Amino acid sequence: MILAERKTLSVAIDGPAGAGKSTVARRVADALGFTYVDTGAMYRALAWAVLDSGVNPQNVEAVLTLAENLDIHLEPGRVWADGREITEWIRSPEISNLTSPLAALPEVRARMVTLQQAMARRGGVVMEGRDIGTVVLPEAEVKIFLTASLAERVRRRREELSAGGVERETETLEREIAARDARDSGRDTAPLRPAEDAVCLDSDQLSADDVVTQILALVGERSHGE
Ligand code: C5P
Repeated sequence: MILAERKTLSVAIDGPAGAGKSTVARRVADALGFTYVDTGAMYRALAWAVLDSGVNPQNVEAVLTLAENLDIHLEPGRVWADGREITEWIRSPEISNLTSPLAALPEVRARMVTLQQAMARRGGVVMEGRDIGTVVLPEAEVKIFLTASLAERVRRRREELSAGGVERETETLEREIAARDARDSGRDTAPLRPAEDAVCLDSDQLSADDVVTQILALVGERSHGE
């Protein structure tokens, strides 16, 4: 019965690049038997499609047509666009840097938000991104805003890239991540910010285990409160 109740709950996890959202969101979803949805991967899939099709990223009309027609399929840690698996391509710095300006286009966001809300219709999701608690799932029972200092986020991203065989200088990464943060936080539509009722956690101070434990405790509280 408790499981059935819990299935209706949604968990929204927002925060800047490299704060550790993916690790934590996947672990929380696994622990609860919920569906994990990485919304950043959807925006990255669009950036991949723009590069793959040779569309000029400045050509807003053409980008929107691509976004409308792109078939995105997500599984934990894997992404497909129009039936092609693109998982290994979408974390490159080139895609990261192109994704953020595309994600600032209101029509692109409208399309992605519609898809994301459809995925969460029945609850039972842990969804991570930038605007989940504020725009996509404003009714989510548990909202987390996960942050970390720029230095720590750069360190983690560098390690991640390095594990995938991509070496990137600290200064370059720091510049890129700071620029992405500024664009994501400064855009007019759905800027990165904590929802008023979000619980803010700082992953400089907490291990991934601690963050997962705190989120699961909140889920427990909110499901008992129903
Ligand atoms: O989370 P991730 O770093 O993969 O996201 C890549 C980019 O996608 C972000 O920098 C942001 O521009 C965009 N994004 C967004 N809204 C979301 C998720 C990601 O604008 N909900």
